[in-house]
Parts: sequence; structure tokens; C-alpha cells
Amino acid sequence: MLVSGNVILQKAHKENYGVGAFNFVNYEMLSTIFEAADEKKSPIIVQASEGAIKYLGIDMAVGMVKILSQRYPHIPVALHLDHGTSYESCVKAIRAGFTSVMIDASHHPFEENLCETKRVVEVAHCAGVSVEAELGRLMGIEDNISVDEKDACLVNPKEAEEFVKESKVDFLAPAIGTSHGAFKFKGEPKLDFERLIEVKRLTNIPLVLHGASAIPSEVREAFLQSGGDLKGSKGVPFEFLQEAIKGGINKINTDTDLRIAFMSEVRRVANEDKTQFDLRKFFAPAKDFMRKVIAERMEVLGSAGKI
Ligand SMILES: [Zn+2]
Repeated sequence: MLVSGNVILQKAHKENYGVGAFNFVNYEMLSTIFEAADEKKSPIIVQASEGAIKYLGIDMAVGMVKILSQRYPHIPVALHLDHGTSYESCVKAIRAGFTSVMIDASHHPFEENLCETKRVVEVAHCAGVSVEAELGRLMGIEDNISVDEKDACLVNPKEAEEFVKESKVDFLAPAIGTSHGAFKFKGEPKLDFERLIEVKRLTNIPLVLHGASAIPSEVREAFLQSGGDLKGSKGVPFEFLQEAIKGGINKINTDTDLRIAFMSEVRRVANEDKTQFDLRKFFAPAKDFMRKVIAERMEVLGSAGKI
């Protein structure tokens, strides 16, 4: 059943578990997320970036989610706009049927971010749609980074408190040391858990972890085996995800892992049979592998069995 992000994340916030927010760019990814949720009895957030919406068409993005949520009526699902860059973009998504939106004005100064977020919250809440905002900049932090440098890019807990109170935003993504893509950390993975705990204490709302792909070893291996190259990539280890959930994270954005899993199988099939051109021969095993990765993630995050 299609519900607002709040329905899913308020329960996770109260019961202290994490829900995967999985990105999709096509039917194969989207249907696989639903299949894994069905298998694991897990609520899900499916999210589309502005780029994915452009690729699919907004009517198709919403249409596919609606049809799949009818096919699996027992699964609570929220359709979320990932990294909405403007008020207009958020309104467009709300009009089209998204049940949750992110307004990402985090690159602007605090006051501007607050003002833009407030505008989106006002219109979204009228439509029963929940809103996510971001504070701080996403970037990997290293051992030798100074306190000043850390304070310059990571979330300021006091500001987070004021921001949530003023904007009435539903979820907050605090920058605590993750970054997007497959290359998250230069040295050992490092997140600022103390800062996270302080943000949770002062805001008491569901928090979001961006750039939370783990690149688990079997996914990495499969990609390399198929002839892919991940260079010096590093994900967020499962223990870190679980520690972050203990510290108050409830929405865990996951995109890179799904892409790597899917494409490793597509490449494997392409290498093994150079005469193959039936799309289903590539996509069926790719879906299978991706479904296993998602199902495992639901266990790690604690959302398995929550419906
Ligand atoms: Zn993000």
C-alpha cells in the first residue's frame, strides 16, 4: 500500500530500526525491490532522483510504483523524491503522486536552506506528503582532519535542533561523514557517531543516512569477477550501518550496491555467451542477485519482519 514516508519512518523511529530507501531507474530495479520486501516482510521506501525521473518520465515512475503497490497490497511503500533541487521540483513530484520529497538546499547558507525547506514543508503537509532536508555537506572524513575542518562540513547539532523546530521538517539527513558513490573514504571508513547521537537527542525525529551503500565483499567480488573495475572503492561496513541505526538513523539510502550487483550479472552473462541478445537472459539473473543483496540489507537494517 502506498503511504507517506512518515507512516514508515515514525514506526522505525519509535521502534529503533532502519528502513532501506532504495533508488530505482527502471522497472527491473523497482520490481526487484518489491520482491525482496515481499520475501522479507519489510516496509520499503523507493526513491527516484530528478535524473531518474527525467529518464523514466514522472508519470511512468509514479505509475509503476502504483501498480506494484497494488500487486503487493500488504507492503507499506513510500515513493520518495531523492535530492529535490528546488521548490518547483518538489511540487511537481507531489502533484504527480510522490508521498515523500527531499528538498536539498544544503549547499546554501543555513538561513536560505531553512527558508526553502519551510516553503516545501508548507505545501507538502497540505497534501499529506512528508519532507526530508539535509544539513551539512556529504564528504568522507579522515583521521587527520582538524576539528575546525570537521565543523565546517559536518552537521552542527545545535543548528539541527533549530532547523527542525523552525521548518517542521519530518526527516533530517545530517552530514556525519558519508559521501555518495562507490568511493566514500580515502583511508579507513569513519563516521562521527557522537555528533549523530547529539543530533538525534536534540531533534527527536527520524534521521537519514545518505551515501550508505556497503559494497559487501560478495558484491565486490562478483563485479570484479565479471571483468569490472571498482578501483579503490570503499563502502560503509554493515557494523557502521547498525551503529548508525542505534544512534538514530532510520532511513538508509542505498543505490550504488544495487547498481553494482545488477551490472555484475549483466556483464557476466555478456562475457559467457557472446551470441546472447535476449534481454531477459541478462536481466533475470541480474534481478536475482540484486534481490539477494536487498533481502540481506533488510536483515542488516532491522526492517525484515516489520510488516
Ligand atoms: Zn543522497
